[in-house]
Formats: sequence, C-alpha cells, structure tokens
Amino acid sequence: MRYHRVPDETIKRLPIYLRGLLLAAEEGRKRISSQQLAEYLRLNPWQIRKDFSFFGGFGKRGVGYDIQQLTRQIKKILRLDVVNRAALVGIGNLGSAVLAYPGFGMYGFEIAAAFDSDPVKVGKEVNGVKIEGVSKLRRLKARNITLGIIAVPRQAAQETADALVKAGVKGILNFAPCHITVPKRVKVITIDFVMDLARLPYYIPAS
Ligand code: NAD
Repeated sequence: MRYHRVPDETIKRLPIYLRGLLLAAEEGRKRISSQQLAEYLRLNPWQIRKDFSFFGGFGKRGVGYDIQQLTRQIKKILRLDVVNRAALVGIGNLGSAVLAYPGFGMYGFEIAAAFDSDPVKVGKEVNGVKIEGVSKLRRLKARNITLGIIAVPRQAAQETADALVKAGVKGILNFAPCHITVPKRVKVITIDFVMDLARLPYYIPAS
C-alpha cells in the first residue's frame, strides 16, 4: 500500500522508530508507550503520535503499543518486510567497509552483488560476495536486485548511476559527493557525512 501526503520528514523518522522498537524487543519488552519510545530515542512523544497518525495511529490510546505488531507495521510501510537486495559499485575504502558491515540483515537488506572496474579486485571475495567486473553490471532485475549503492569516485558516479538504472534498479544510495541525475521513477538518496562534519566546528566554542 502506498500512503499519500505523508511528509518526507515522517518517513525519515520511521526507521528511527523501528530501530528503537528492535532494541526494546531485544531487551525483552513486549509493549511500549509513545512516551517511553520517545524517552528511549530522545524524541518528542507528540511527534511520534503525530507521525503515527498518518497511518491510522497504530493501536489504542493508553495501553501502549504491542512492540512486535508495531515493528511489523512499520516494516511493511517502509517495505522492509521483504528482503531488499542491493548491488554495491566501487569496492574501495568505503565500499569494502560497507560490504563487511554485518548490520544490514536486521533491516532485511542483502548486498547481493559487488562490482569494481579494477581488474585486480575482480574475482576476490569479501564477506561471501564475489567482486564482479563492471561489464557484468547489467540485468540486475533478473537477479532480483532492486537497489544500487554507489561508492565510486565522484567522477565515475553519474556513469555508475546510469548503468544501475539501465540494469533495472529502482533506488540508489549515493556516497559520492555529487549530484546524480536519474529518471523520475528512480529514487536517489545521497549521503555526504563530510558535509555534516563540515558544520560541526561552527558549534564548538573557540578556546
Ligand atoms: P576508493 O578510491 O578507495 O575506492 C573507489 C573504488 O571505486 C575503487 O575500488 C575503484 O577501482 C572503483 N571504481 C572507480 N571507477 C569505477 C567505475 N567507473 N566503476 C566501478 N568501480 C569504479 O574511494 P573511497 O574512499 O572508497 O570513496 C568512494 C566514494 O565515497 C568517493 O566518491 C568518496 O568521495 C566517497 N566517500 C568516501 C568516504 C570514506 O570514508 N572513504 C567518506 C565519504 C564519502
């Protein structure tokens, strides 16, 4: 089901709520109120209830949320209730770290393919995934891969995005520090944590 008129900011917070719920479940909790979830995540309970109201509120007032049920509902909204297979392109410093990271499974992600243009890297295996040459980056749809992750240098980011789109991916997570252009039907999220770092010193008082 596709919900309409849900603000992007709400969608941005849903994975944060999900993470809180998964951690609470890990601690053996069964139910949680919006107040408790807010304390857990250092957020505002009013914000949580408002965000949930876009999806009908999830549960009765006063009794708290059933953690398992709410987890299922949020996963379904985010389409994390199925395994989302991703192709990673660029297995350098960042790409290798992404490929080795064990934390994707919790959210149903699987890095199912890895590509690099460097012939020295092609054929090597990282975390059970064999690195393929970029010439193999096609027909990802047939391999049930719907997401692409770009970890190539900035200069190669657009051509990589073009190849991923041509191969059939529907969403791209771009680590390269540049804008990439894709058809409207494809969703791109660019992550540039250096830009976050670049505004951090502003908040630090001069000594
Ligand atoms: P890197 O040079 O270590 O790795 C880049 C990899 O991409 C190499 O293995 C290279 O062979 C491969 N590559 C180059 N052109 C390609 C192409 N056309 N197709 C497929 N593979 C190709 O670089 P890195 O440090 O891993 O950074 C990767 C990207 O992430 C860069 O855009 C960088 O700006 C960005 N980034 C990196 C970091 C970090 O901590 N390393 C942090 C923020 C952003």
